[in-house]
Amino acid sequence: MKCVVCHSPDIAEKRVDEEIRIGDNIFLVDVEALSCRTCGERSFDRNAMRRIEEARTRFREQSVPVQEVGKVFRTRVA
Ligand SMILES: [Zn+2]
Repeated sequence: MKCVVCHSPDIAEKRVDEEIRIGDNIFLVDVEALSCRTCGERSFDRNAMRRIEEARTRFREQSVPVQEVGKVFRTRVA
């Protein structure tokens, strides 16, 4: 298996926090991803994709307990 972006064969399975954005909020769900050690591109298998979609639905329905882990700030001056 090769990276779809840089074609490097140096890919490792890694547990990652995938961000799911709903409105102004970001929810994190930990899933198994294939991560390229060369360029950092992440890809998910079908199982992980399903977990992400399930999590998105649950976050939206607020049917899963969540914990606040930080706040998001924005500035207009860079
Ligand atoms: Zn890559």
